[in-house]
Amino acid sequence: MFFVMGFGNKDELLKEVSFRCTNCINEKFELYQMSNVFSFFFIPIFRFNKKFLIVCKNCKSIYRLKNESLEKVLETSNVTYDDVEEIIRNNNVCKNCGHRVDETDKFCPNCGNKL
Ligand SMILES: [Zn+2]
Ligand SMILES: [Zn+2]
Repeated sequence: MFFVMGFGNKDELLKEVSFRCTNCINEKFELYQMSNVFSFFFIPIFRFNKKFLIVCKNCKSIYRLKNESLEKVLETSNVTYDDVEEIIRNNNVCKNCGHRVDETDKFCPNCGNKL
């Protein structure tokens, strides 16, 4: 007999929220709960390092919420700059149309604008 133990990442989509993206013109975001799960026989036993992230639906920029802001955000579905702890990822977007572009792109794949 042997035991199976492990650590895993688990993401849960909590709800849609609104926040003015610092990177593009979008205001529609998704709020995720991410936690590292310690599992035993594939049963999550306890969670630690709980983090709440909001992800821009357009450019996929990621911001981390302050834990103390969570209750308010769940209630109002509204995130302000004061609720953001840090910017985790800021993706590049086209200045012309707001479409997401890669750092290596020379032209926007959506509108052809020179970057
Ligand atoms: Zn965005
Ligand atoms: Zn564009």
